[in-house]
Amino acid sequence: MLKDKVAIVTGASRGIGRSIALSLAEAGARIVASARNAELLEELVGQIQSQGGQAVAVVGDVASGSDADRLVEKAVEAFGRVDILVNNAGITRDGLLLRMKDQDWDEVLNVNLKGAFLCTRAVAKVMSKQRFGRIINMSSVVGEMGNPGQANYCASKAGLIGLTKSVARELARRNVTVNAITPGFIATDMTDALSEKARQELTAQIPLGRLGAVEDIAHAVKFLASEQAGYITGQVLGVNGGMYM
Ligand code: NAP
Repeated sequence: MLKDKVAIVTGASRGIGRSIALSLAEAGARIVASARNAELLEELVGQIQSQGGQAVAVVGDVASGSDADRLVEKAVEAFGRVDILVNNAGITRDGLLLRMKDQDWDEVLNVNLKGAFLCTRAVAKVMSKQRFGRIINMSSVVGEMGNPGQANYCASKAGLIGLTKSVARELARRNVTVNAITPGFIATDMTDALSEKARQELTAQIPLGRLGAVEDIAHAVKFLASEQAGYITGQVLGVNGGMYM
């Protein structure tokens, strides 16, 4: 389905990003996996290669403009083009508003929102020239609903929706689509940190009665990255078990 496409996935070392990278590779894409942890990235690249796929690791911090530019350069160097960018890298620094430190705000906005902007700007030149591209931004259901204790995170994720729609309008004429996915609560390191009680309370809010799996998000990414999704741009796809409608 994605044979010979080249996909950059940020935050590919763990969790949702790792699952996206594996799933796109399984569909035939060549993967450029990025994050800060070199060891985990190499492990992922090894796994993709052992399954007959092609992948390279590029270590970098998405919040750095030079790292974002280098990521796209390395992708072009390795595979000659970039068809898909998944802006998935993200962090939380939770805290109630009155106790939230400037640094907690800045770090979250820099990684989650500015990181996506930097990678998108870097890849836009290549995709515009190719007259083909698929950009997928990993937002969150809490960017749509809000969540106490996550003002920084929710602002970054709501910001990604604005970024998605603006860039979708800018790049549409170049046949580059830009969409956002808003996962609900997905079982990963990020949600493993929750207490059992918090987990039960969360599950009670989800009509489908379970946390999501990383594969639930990977399937949605694979669809939006495909040729079949060519008439979809500027959209926000909720993958949340019905917790927000
Ligand atoms: P995770 O397990 O904590 O993984 C986060 C990934 O982002 C890691 O690969 C991490 O790699 C990378 N990363 C963090 N800071 C980075 C930086 N400065 N530069 C480059 N890479 C960085 O989180 P996850 O649950 O898979 O979440 C993935 C995305 O989905 C995030 O954007 C998150 O906000 C979003 N999301 C998650 C959920 C959920 O329930 N899990 C729900 C809604 C949305 P390194 O540490 O190696 O850099």
